[in-house]
Amino acid sequence: MPQLRLDTPVQFLSGIGPKRGEALERLGVVTAQDLLLHLPHRYLDASSVTPLAKARVGDDVACVGTVTAKGILPTRKGLRIFHAVLKDDSGVLECAWPGQPFLDRSISEGQVLLVVGPIRFYHGRQMAPRETIVLSDVDDLAVGGVVLPVYPATEGLSHKQIRAIIAKHLDALIPLVPDILPERLRERFALPALGDAVRAVHRPTSIKDAEAGRRRLAVDELLDLQLMLSRARYIARQGQRGTEFVVHRTLTTALRESLPWELTADQKQAIREIFDDMTKPERMHRLLMGDVGTGKTVVALCAMLLALENGYQAALMAPTELLAEQHMRSLTALLAPLGIVPELLVGKLTVADKRAARARLVSGETRIVVGTHALVQEGVAFDRLGLVVIDEQHRFGVEQRAALMGKGEAPDVLLLTATPIPRSLALTRYGDLDVSVLKLKPPGRGTIRTAVRTGGHRERVFDFVHQTALQGGQVYIVLPVIEESERADLRAAETMAKTLTAQWPDVSVGLVHGRLKAPERDAVMRGFRDGSIKVLVATTVIEVGIDVPNATVMVIEHPERFGLAQLHQLRGRVGRGEAESHCILLPNSDDVPERLRAFSQTDDGFKIAELDLEERRQGDLLGARQSGGVDFKIARFPDDTDLLGEARALAQAILADDPTLVKKANKPLRERAVTRYPRGEVLFRVG
Ligand code: ADP
Ligand code: MG
Repeated sequence: MPQLRLDTPVQFLSGIGPKRGEALERLGVVTAQDLLLHLPHRYLDASSVTPLAKARVGDDVACVGTVTAKGILPTRKGLRIFHAVLKDDSGVLECAWPGQPFLDRSISEGQVLLVVGPIRFYHGRQMAPRETIVLSDVDDLAVGGVVLPVYPATEGLSHKQIRAIIAKHLDALIPLVPDILPERLRERFALPALGDAVRAVHRPTSIKDAEAGRRRLAVDELLDLQLMLSRARYIARQGQRGTEFVVHRTLTTALRESLPWELTADQKQAIREIFDDMTKPERMHRLLMGDVGTGKTVVALCAMLLALENGYQAALMAPTELLAEQHMRSLTALLAPLGIVPELLVGKLTVADKRAARARLVSGETRIVVGTHALVQEGVAFDRLGLVVIDEQHRFGVEQRAALMGKGEAPDVLLLTATPIPRSLALTRYGDLDVSVLKLKPPGRGTIRTAVRTGGHRERVFDFVHQTALQGGQVYIVLPVIEESERADLRAAETMAKTLTAQWPDVSVGLVHGRLKAPERDAVMRGFRDGSIKVLVATTVIEVGIDVPNATVMVIEHPERFGLAQLHQLRGRVGRGEAESHCILLPNSDDVPERLRAFSQTDDGFKIAELDLEERRQGDLLGARQSGGVDFKIARFPDDTDLLGEARALAQAILADDPTLVKKANKPLRERAVTRYPRGEVLFRVG
C-alpha cells in the first residue's frame, strides 16, 4: 500500500476496490479528500428520530423501526398499496406506500427502515413515507446520545456501506488535513480547525457540533470559489486588450432584415449591451442568461456577425457533439439568406475532414465555426478569432474560459446559459462576468400545460403516452434512478423501459441514462431526434439542450424527488414546436405537495429559481445540488448566505498582499482550490 495521501484515488483505500470505487465516483467521490468531504445529508439521533408511538397525525417526522409485517392491499380504485408495520421500543406504526407494489420485492420482515414523511389518519395513524431507506437487517442503530450520520447513497453502494467506509478511514485521513488558513485569519473569523470540522461532520457528538463543522467546511468551499473567481478576473483583465469592433450594420442588419419575426424587447436590449461591450477596447466577458426558448441563439448570432463584419472569425462551443450539431443546424438556417456557411468541427469527423476543416480555419476561409471543446485544444488555430460564444456555461466552468483566453488572440467571450439563477447567487457564481437577461419568450410558440396526476390516473396517463406515440408523436418519460437498488422506493428507468417494451410491441422505446458511454448515449438521442424512437425513457441526462420539436409530452415519475429548478429544466425539453405540449407529473403519493402545485402553475424560470433556493434548506432532493446552476457540495442556500460575505472577506484578506496567489505561503490554498475545481489548474497555468 503506497503512502496514504489526500489525492489517493479512493479505490486504492482498503475495503474499496474498483467496483465500489466506480459507485463512489457516481457520487462525485474520486479521491480520499472527496471521501472526507462526502457529507451526511441527515443525522439520526434520539432527538431527531420520533419514537413510533409519538408520531402524531399532522406531523412530518423521521422514524426508525423493524418491519414486523408487510403486504400489498388493493384498493377499490384499482391502486395497489404496499403496507408495512414498523415496531420499536415505544410501539408500532403502520406505513403505506400507494402505487408502489414493487416495494414488496425489496422490503422484508426483520429489516430496519428509516422512513420520513407525514402522518395522516386512515383507520388509525399511518405514515405515507416520501423517503424510505433500508438501514440494514440488524443495524448498530444509534440510540440515546450517539448521532448516526446518513450519507447520500447510490446504485451499488448503500448509505450504510458508505458510513462504514468513512468510519474506517477517518482516523487515518484526518491528520492529513492541514489547516491551510493562516492562524490569524482563523482567529479573526472564529473558525474551528479544519481537522476538527471534518471529524465533527462524520462523528459528531451532537447535531449542533455537526452543523458547526459543516459551516467551517462550507466557508472553505466558498473561499476556494472566491479565489478562483478573482484569479479568473485577474486573467481576464490583464495584458491583452480586446478588439474595438465597429458596428458597420452590414451583416448584422442583413440578419435582422432576413428574420421572419421581430426581435423581442429583451433580445434587443441584450444585443445593445453586447454591442456596447464589443465596441469598447476592453475584452467582453458577458453571460447571456435566459430560459429555454427565450431566443438566445439569434442574439449570439448577432454578436458573431458583428465580429464578421469587422473581418474577424467567430466560434461557438457546445458541451456535447449532439448540441454542436443542433447549433450547426439552426445557424445554417439563419445564415442561409446571408450566404454564409458555418463549419462544424467535432471529434467524430474523419482525420482528413478534421485536417481540412482546420486548414479552412487557419486560412480564414471559414468565418463561423461550431464545435465542442475540441475547439480550444491544441492544434486548432484561427486566422483572426474575434468572438467566442460558449453555450451552457456551467458545464464548461470558470476554468475553460481561461483556457480560451490563453489562445494567443484576445477574443471577446459571450457565455450562454439556460439556467436562471437568483441575483444573490449570480454574483457569487459569476462574479467575474457581466450579465444580460432574456425574460420574455417570443410569441407564437406552443404552450406547455403542466398537470399533476396521482396514482389512480396512472393507467390513463400511460394510455395517453401510448396513443401519442402511435399517432407519430414523441414522449419523454423521466425517472429519478437508473436501476432498482437500495432506493427501493423509487421507480427505475431500466425497469420502466423493459416494461414498456414488452407492453407496447407497436412502439419503439429507447433508454438513456448517465451510465451509458457517450457514443451509445448519442446514438439513442439521435434515434429520438430522427423520430425512429418514439418513447424515450431517461434519467435527468436529457436535461440540457436537447431540442426535439416533435416531442410534445413529458411524463415525470417521482417529481417529488427533484428540485424545482431541475423539474423546470426537464420541462423545457417539450414545448419547442408549435403544437401544445404536456408535462405530466406523477408523484408517488396522493397528497400532492404544495411545491408541485406551485410548479405546475408557473413557467417563470426566475421565479422557480427563487422557490428552488428556498426549499434547498431541506437538502435531500435528488440532484438538487446540480440544479439552479449552483453546484456547491457543502454550502447550502439560503441558509449559508451569511457565509458568502465571510468567504469574500477571507479571500480579500488573503489576496491583499498576494493578489495573484503566487506566494509560496499560499501554495496550499492554491492547490486546494485547484483540487476542488479540478480543471482550475488551467486558471493557474495561463496568464
Ligand atoms: P434558446 O436557445 O434560448 O432556448 P432558441 O434561440 O433556440 O432559444 O430559440 C427558440 C426558438 O424561438 C427558435 O425556433 C427561434 O427561431 C425562435 N425565436 C427566437 N427569437 C424569436 C422571436 N423574437 N420571435 C419569434 N421566434 C423567435
Ligand atoms: Mg439554445
